[in-house]
Amino acid sequence: MHIAIVGAGVVGLTSGVRLRELGHAVTIFAERRTPETTSDRAAAAFTPPRGPLAERTLAWVRASCRAFEELARTTPESGVDLALFRELSTEPMHALPAWAADIQGFQRLTGLPPPHRDGWAAVLPRIDMTRYLPWLERRFEHELGGAFVSARLLDLGEPFDEGFELVVNASGLGARRLARDEAVVPIRGQVLHVPNVLHLDTVLCDESRGRPCTYVIPFPSHVVVGGTFEPDEWIEECDEPALASMLDRARELLAQSGVQHSERLGRQRLRALAGLRPGRKIGAQEDCVRLERVELAPGRPLVHAYGHGRAGVTLSWGCAEDVARLCTDGALGGAHEDPPPANHARARSA
Ligand SMILES: Cc1cc2nc3c(=O)[nH]c(=O)nc-3n(C[C@H](O)[C@H](O)[C@H](O)COP(=O)(O)OP(=O)(O)OC[C@H]3O[C@@H](n4cnc5c(N)ncnc54)[C@H](O)[C@@H]3O)c2cc1C
Repeated sequence: MHIAIVGAGVVGLTSGVRLRELGHAVTIFAERRTPETTSDRAAAAFTPPRGPLAERTLAWVRASCRAFEELARTTPESGVDLALFRELSTEPMHALPAWAADIQGFQRLTGLPPPHRDGWAAVLPRIDMTRYLPWLERRFEHELGGAFVSARLLDLGEPFDEGFELVVNASGLGARRLARDEAVVPIRGQVLHVPNVLHLDTVLCDESRGRPCTYVIPFPSHVVVGGTFEPDEWIEECDEPALASMLDRARELLAQSGVQHSERLGRQRLRALAGLRPGRKIGAQEDCVRLERVELAPGRPLVHAYGHGRAGVTLSWGCAEDVARLCTDGALGGAHEDPPPANHARARSA
């Protein structure tokens, strides 16, 4: 099939790679490419949504985890590796993450020094987005022979007019306009990249209730410090008070975790980034990914793949498998749209 994908963020690129691997002719149309997409701003830790997960979300988490573990083992140039994660909270956790049972060596942390009272540790994929998206582009274009067109589409019908047989809509926040879907809303996030002067290697995250989520994600070349979670904020710019607060919280988290000289973190900054996560909210339900096949018009099949909110990187390989199934088989064999259950807890604020 001749397939057009709209969007060159992590969702569009990963889907493009999977579809090329299956032998389809694939062209990605995108207004922005790396390093200008929201995906380039991702932290990017492996951060599955929290709380009870819908079956399909759990399947995406599992498939993505397997794919990233495989990349970590076989393809170091992708910027993916495995690292120790420690998530901490000042409150007792009510339940372990729904996906914990799948992770070998997942460990509940007890006897933590104050102020933390609960937490977990596990070895999980860690993705250096400064290397990963350029690698995904190379994989799609140079290794697999996919094509790119730089263009801003005004209508999802445009690729059909050019002769494409199927369109995948992976336009992130752009879907609000392209798919006329007002459930799609921006959630701004800000991160800082700073030199790894403390030679950190463990990913730390403080998810205490009532405080902004704080994370420190080290890579050999830099440390990602975050974050913020700002719903309905359309301005794609950083603000200094938010950056200063993130850095203070990160230094505090390091000190609480026993890291010496935490005050040295971030004295020098490499870059400050702001991105608009493509949230999708239906009623009180957040993170309602839209992954389904529809007919734009008779004979014009369209696969929607957008609304990944806080977890687009984490869900990318699992979603790409389903995109490929919807393109090839026309169905998944189950419900297409399957928002999280009503008691879905707030997702992790990556
Ligand atoms: C600060 C921050 C930290 C984050 N941390 C994490 C994390 O640790 N783990 C995680 O899993 N996720 C994280 N996320 C979320 C993650 O970044 C998103 O879920 C993900 O990037 C969404 O990918 P996407 O491909 O759907 O969208 P995008 O990356 O926004 O890509 C959309 C693409 O569509 C194109 N497009 C849109 N409209 C049009 C149009 N009309 N015509 C042509 N092209 C169009 C755009 O140009 C772009 O190429 C974070 C996000 C932020 C901002």
